[in-house]
Amino acid sequence: QARRSVTVIGLGPMGQAMARAFLDAGYAVTVWNRTAARADELVARGAQAAPSAEAAVAANELVVLSLTDYDAVFTVLESVEPALKGKVVANLSSDTPGRAREAARWLAERGAGHLTGGVQVPPSGIGSPESSTFYSGPVELFRRHRAALEVLTAADYRGDDPGLAQLYYQIQMDLFWSSMVGYLHATAVAEANGITAEEFLPYALPTASLLPRMIEFYAPRITAGDHRGDVDRLTMALASIEHVQHTAEDSGVDGALPALLAEAVRRGVADGDGAASLSTLVGRFRRA
Ligand code: NDP
Repeated sequence: QARRSVTVIGLGPMGQAMARAFLDAGYAVTVWNRTAARADELVARGAQAAPSAEAAVAANELVVLSLTDYDAVFTVLESVEPALKGKVVANLSSDTPGRAREAARWLAERGAGHLTGGVQVPPSGIGSPESSTFYSGPVELFRRHRAALEVLTAADYRGDDPGLAQLYYQIQMDLFWSSMVGYLHATAVAEANGITAEEFLPYALPTASLLPRMIEFYAPRITAGDHRGDVDRLTMALASIEHVQHTAEDSGVDGALPALLAEAVRRGVADGDGAASLSTLVGRFRRA
């Protein structure tokens, strides 16, 4: 049986971890990076450094890209155009769903396949089956290369639309960033009042762990379009968020973040939704 082989282009922290995982799994690995020295350690471990990006693409059917964003992806792909026919590009670079669709179209016009990947873990999680990556694109390409991709992380195939892997990734990041910034804002108010982050910790954790239960409660209601104000009301949310904003401002902390939340809720109240649930914000955000 021929030795399994793969090309990895882009050797930032993520691409390096990926190339290492393939080497550890016994793959023949060809690598290329714009800054060539980033390949040195991998070559010492047994990887082949290709003399050009085009040679790297030519070396194997499966080409894994791990680049900063899709601007970098297009810069690299345009430079290797003659070598692309028949290749399958597993693009594990982050960007928007729209850009993933654009790359898939561009590659299809050149006789190449595109699998979009949205990696959900930092480089330290690469090589672990407990980590997960979203994939989307033609199912037959995913099936053909699934075993290789699962060397990196578990693979969660989301569907044929090349945008889907990025979409699932971005909606998770949407939730992540607003929650994380919310935590940092609360910590700023705590610190401004002489409460350290560690003193806040035993109180921050139970509040943060309310979120999973709230999400479980609201998801089926939101899907059903049920925004009854039987457990919470916009008017109550508005009063509470205003208290948060004023406490921040009284503490000398920037109140812009809670003010933004209060404004979204206030518009709902002004439109007559005061007795409805906070979940009506989903529809209001969609109309925005
Ligand atoms: P980096 O930005 O550190 O590295 C990306 C690579 O892109 C480098 O090899 C860099 O080359 C290359 N690159 C950038 N611009 C160009 C260009 N114009 N032409 C050629 N090569 C270029 O990213 P990471 O390694 O951290 O991550 C890679 C991808 O994975 C990103 O899309 C990131 O969002 C995503 N990701 C990262 C996670 C993380 O925790 N790191 C987690 C989940 C996803 P050079 O060495 O020459 O600069």
